[in-house]
Amino acid sequence: MKLIIVGGVAGGASAAARARRLSEDAEILLIERGPDVSFANCGLPYHIGEVIPQRDKLLVTTPERLRERFRLDVRTRSEVEAIDRHGKTVRVRDLTTGRVYEEGYDKLILAPGAAPIRPPIPGADLPNVFTLRNLADTDRIKKVVDAKIERAVIVGAGFIGLELAENFVHRGIATTILDRNQQVLPPFDPEMTTPLVAALAEKGVEVLLGQTAETISAGADGMTVTLTSGDTRTAQLVVLGIGVRPENMLAVQADLAVGPRGGVRVNEYLQTSDPDIFAVGDVIETTDFGTGERTQVPLAGPANRQGRIAADNAFGRKSKYRGTQGTAILGFFGTTAAMTGLSEKALKRLGKPYRKVYVHPAHHAGYYPGAEGMSLKVIFDPETGKLLGAQGVGGAGVDKRIDVLAVAVQAGMTVFDLEEMELCYAPQFGSAKDPVNMAGFVAGGLLRGDHPQIDWEAVAAMTEKPLLLDVRTPLEYASGRIPDAVNIPVDDLRSRLSELPKGRAIVAYCQVGQRGYLATRILMQAGFTVSNLGGGYKTYLLHQPQGVRA
Ligand code: FAD
Repeated sequence: MKLIIVGGVAGGASAAARARRLSEDAEILLIERGPDVSFANCGLPYHIGEVIPQRDKLLVTTPERLRERFRLDVRTRSEVEAIDRHGKTVRVRDLTTGRVYEEGYDKLILAPGAAPIRPPIPGADLPNVFTLRNLADTDRIKKVVDAKIERAVIVGAGFIGLELAENFVHRGIATTILDRNQQVLPPFDPEMTTPLVAALAEKGVEVLLGQTAETISAGADGMTVTLTSGDTRTAQLVVLGIGVRPENMLAVQADLAVGPRGGVRVNEYLQTSDPDIFAVGDVIETTDFGTGERTQVPLAGPANRQGRIAADNAFGRKSKYRGTQGTAILGFFGTTAAMTGLSEKALKRLGKPYRKVYVHPAHHAGYYPGAEGMSLKVIFDPETGKLLGAQGVGGAGVDKRIDVLAVAVQAGMTVFDLEEMELCYAPQFGSAKDPVNMAGFVAGGLLRGDHPQIDWEAVAAMTEKPLLLDVRTPLEYASGRIPDAVNIPVDDLRSRLSELPKGRAIVAYCQVGQRGYLATRILMQAGFTVSNLGGGYKTYLLHQPQGVRA
């Protein structure tokens, strides 16, 4: 058996190592265009920021090590230029010598990844305009940063753009980040990104939404970036982080099936339309775990797992890929944002029914020093309570909760299962009622009809304005409230019922939803038409982004 793997980083290197573990006899070629294999793409922004000062730490392994430990035939600086499916050969160019030769295969795994998109705007090819994919790009960007530049513009506020913003700030560079969307981090629901924009602003990063770079021109002071609004920013460094496109050229030339967005089509065994050719990682179109629809999710976790699965199948073990949930995380300036499964905006786009709850707990017992806050949003089926997705933003502990929820989504659990989850607890780690349990209690209570809850968007859309009843303390009310709200603290409510109108809808709210729930129960039983504002004032604040939209 002769296996050829094209691309030697996340998906390709995983496939190669797995293949060797499955077969000591197979001939395994790992062909990589660049000088390095298996480097840590995800660590690249942190080397630029000198959080990871040693460059060689980014080399997870070396070609020599792969040769020694796995007896792989690793060929770096070698590009596969074409596939002949009928002759079962690939054409390889040795980029050092220029020699072109053919190699036969029994099975082929394509793991060529995805290339950053370079928009066709004037100036995108200027010397200090970069994209970031590999160590060579990292070296080029770091060289400019090391020259002590003053200003940078990042186009695209996705994962890579935001990570770079943090690292540029570490290096003392005044940074502007643009996104043509009206939010940063587009896979997330917009309200969950409000704290991220606040964290960026606090560190002096200029965030411009609804804006992109229309032109970049060279000038005396570096470059001038002209924005959609017509405004300009000067910068000595511009990084384009607007997304990636599958490197599907080999597949297209070989007439393999490719989806409308360029992802190579694979079945659940990661087999392309040619049964002897598998494809993994950023180059493929995969299945969305939640909807079963085709999607493209360029993430390292899926690429690594797919590499293993493709190797299994190449060697006759039937391994299935379950689909991609889009579990992702980002951290900067001490703020974490993480998500799994379907977002609310994806569900809206698909016209699928859902309900959602927000909770705003601390990451561990509040009485133990160092508790940090988080906002957690859980989205579920309105009939069955089956979990559809979750997002979290805040300080410590967001990662743990989204990981738990990612497992719950994959296991097909419901919000009622979240109520029952037994998670580890001591005061420095969590709470006896973990944030995940809390989300389950709120969602479970809602589905059981224990309390009517209303979302902020629904309140804002009401034509007959409800009475907004703030049931927090006068001090909390004085330090920030929803406009027009009246204040009756929950502890005074029973004695002040006569101040409330019987015929008008009342929306009660507190800080996070808990006192609002109690107030709702009191008022319901006293005959008022009342709902609790889901997630309380903190959720209302998430829906009030501050002054950054175009
Ligand atoms: P790659 O890892 O890109 O490897 C493909 C390789 O194939 C490349 O080295 C390329 O040179 C080679 N190649 C292409 N065509 C040929 C050819 N014809 N012949 C020979 N070789 C070829 N994901 C996360 O989940 N978390 C993160 O924190 C994260 N951070 C990231 C930060 C950065 C800066 C970048 C760029 C990506 C990040 N990602 C992250 C995404 C993650 O790195 C990718 O999803 C993952 O590497 C995809 O794996 P892959 O094997 O499909 O492609």
